Amino acid sequence: MEFKKKDRPFVIAGPCSAETREQVLETADGLKNFKVDLLRGGVWKPRTRPGSFEGVGEDGIKWLKEAGAQIGKPISVEVASTNHVEIALKSEVDVLWIGARTTVNPFMIQEIAEALAGTNIPVLVKNPVNPDVELWIGAIERLQSVGLTNLGAIHRGFSTFQKSPFRNSPNWNIPIELKRRMPDLPIICDPSHICGSRQLLAEVAQKAIDLNMDGLMLETHRDPSKAWSDADQQVTPPELDSILKGLVWRNPNSLNLGVKAKLEELRATIDGLDRDILDLLLERLSVTRSIGEYKKEHNITILQHQRWNEILNDREAHVQGKPISMRFLHKFLEAIHEESIQQQTEVMNAKTETE
Ligand code: PEP
Ligand code: MN
Repeated sequence: MEFKKKDRPFVIAGPCSAETREQVLETADGLKNFKVDLLRGGVWKPRTRPGSFEGVGEDGIKWLKEAGAQIGKPISVEVASTNHVEIALKSEVDVLWIGARTTVNPFMIQEIAEALAGTNIPVLVKNPVNPDVELWIGAIERLQSVGLTNLGAIHRGFSTFQKSPFRNSPNWNIPIELKRRMPDLPIICDPSHICGSRQLLAEVAQKAIDLNMDGLMLETHRDPSKAWSDADQQVTPPELDSILKGLVWRNPNSLNLGVKAKLEELRATIDGLDRDILDLLLERLSVTRSIGEYKKEHNITILQHQRWNEILNDREAHVQGKPISMRFLHKFLEAIHEESIQQQTEVMNAKTETE
């Protein structure tokens, strides 16, 4: 299975859950003329609370296979145990994916990896529910270590207790870090589980494409509002098609030399600016350490809340109306403040020669 395509994203579509034979066949039929590469359907559903619909099991695989054969597309299911793997392999499912609640558990991943040893079935690994890139990479490495080579990652966002427009916070820096660490690994974005509702899907899908992700997984249902799981985030096949048609596909590298030269010039400017920022930061930290010495001499506490509030207010006023978000400004100042406090603490606790 080639997850990287030249001119458009690799697309995985199909229902959150296989519910009935008719629902799977009808949904697949709705997708048959669209640019969908792989049909999905969950048959074992890891639900947060007991008592919800937990999937139809092996029957669902039969329906998916029938649907896939009818529309000429390969199929994929989620596996979360060695038993699932056995059934999926026996049924000759084309692609497996590992869910976010499984990726968090190295024992489970190890068992699944061992059950897959000797095959070279393509496997997609969803990010763990917690924002931990090492755990995500660890799961991929466990699969690699049994000899699987056709692997990919799915970015489906991260659980958060904070109020957010997303069901799972995208934390784009994490898939970006995964890409940096494993540059050849295809990454597919799953806007459905990031968004939790239909409204933001197109925006998140576009963002994934802009970040050079290789594909999209979008939950699709013949009648989303009646879905037995994840009803708010699924779309109909025509809605999926219109999201895909609305995407602006950007080339990771333009072949046009003029464009390349202009980009290089702008990047060189950024490189210079970054160095200037770092030099200024070093200068600021040196002043911070002098303040530390002074505070030590006069026995004054490091953290003075009033001063910190003044800094925040002053810097906010400084950029008022300018194109920078307050959220970023606060994060940036907090990071500098934390390093300053750390360095002042070191200065104040350093033993002087007379001690
Ligand atoms: C799913 O794809 O339906 C699913 C259960 O996803 P996740 O593991 O991302 O929650
Ligand atoms: Mn789902």
